Amino acid sequence: MKIKEIIQSLERLAPLSLQESYDNAGLIIGKAETECTGILTSLDVTESVVKEAVNKKCNLIVAHHPIIFKGIKKLNGKNYIERTVISAIKNDVAIYAIHTNLDNIIEGVNKMIAGKLNLQNCQTLLPKRRTLEKLVTFAPVKNAAEIRNALFNAGAGAIGKYDKCSFNVEGSGTFRAGEGSDPFVGKIGEQHFENETRIEVVFPSFLQNKIITSLKEAHPYEEAAYYIQELENVQKNIGSGLVGELKSEISENELLNILKKSFKLSVIKHTAFLGKPVSKIALCGGAGDFLLFNAIAAGANVYITSDIKYHEFFDADNRILLCDIGHYESEQFTIELLTEFLQEKFHNFAVLKTEMNTNPVSYFS
Ligand SMILES: [Zn+2]
Repeated sequence: MKIKEIIQSLERLAPLSLQESYDNAGLIIGKAETECTGILTSLDVTESVVKEAVNKKCNLIVAHHPIIFKGIKKLNGKNYIERTVISAIKNDVAIYAIHTNLDNIIEGVNKMIAGKLNLQNCQTLLPKRRTLEKLVTFAPVKNAAEIRNALFNAGAGAIGKYDKCSFNVEGSGTFRAGEGSDPFVGKIGEQHFENETRIEVVFPSFLQNKIITSLKEAHPYEEAAYYIQELENVQKNIGSGLVGELKSEISENELLNILKKSFKLSVIKHTAFLGKPVSKIALCGGAGDFLLFNAIAAGANVYITSDIKYHEFFDADNRILLCDIGHYESEQFTIELLTEFLQEKFHNFAVLKTEMNTNPVSYFS
């Protein structure tokens, strides 16, 4: 089993194109063609995690945070990033990061947090725009079904819980085949009229290459006519944060106790209690300050995230109970998610969770 196949599987879960523009998810160190001997999953990659991978005979680390995030111009080992990179290369350990692409799918980082709180009716807090496109193509009426099916098989035409969605209208297409062409219908040098079906299907942007390739393979014309439009529609399951509901109302105090216990927290930073029962909860694993107003707008009683600055606590303004549970703490269950996902898919080698606590923050109490 090559590392490439593991990457393909991870990218079916969380396509790289869903990562934010500032991110550096993907295979950061190593060759995709290498045979995999074992996988170690972690939130962060440090020198100790690389050492652990070597000891456990894992030549692939699948981590949430990319070890190389900004440009590196020298590799002298003068900071932890350079030392980790050098150690991984020396020991033939590949490093793959599945970062904001995993944040941006509803089945990702946030679903793990929601799961610990038993939230129901979970929805993306801020769905991403411009992740959908529409393909329009024209095909001879008798070939339309075959082309539609090829497009569906490539992933087009899926809307929510529906698949094989398309719009079709028949009309008359014209063309004149030029010298040197090999027309499917009609004669060279003569204008031809053909009964055609105009087929329209939507698809997620990251599938564009696959959709065009399958269209060209299935289309009988030498030059398949098609165009692609970017859509304003949002995809409900792609975007930042999550909002969900508790089965029954609890007090703010109860919620914080549940958080403390299930996330093994020694401390929670939070704004003043509002004295209201909690039923709707918004959350975002990692740094989620940018979603505070979305959480308020969604009608959540509480917003659970991390990396909140002093003045951002003021922004809650008695409209929501804002809780900062710590970055590592909020994302800790991502390791479980990655491990279980990979263990289910691959049986030829071990998929192990790191035993290192890579949290750089300590609490003195
Ligand atoms: Zn993070």
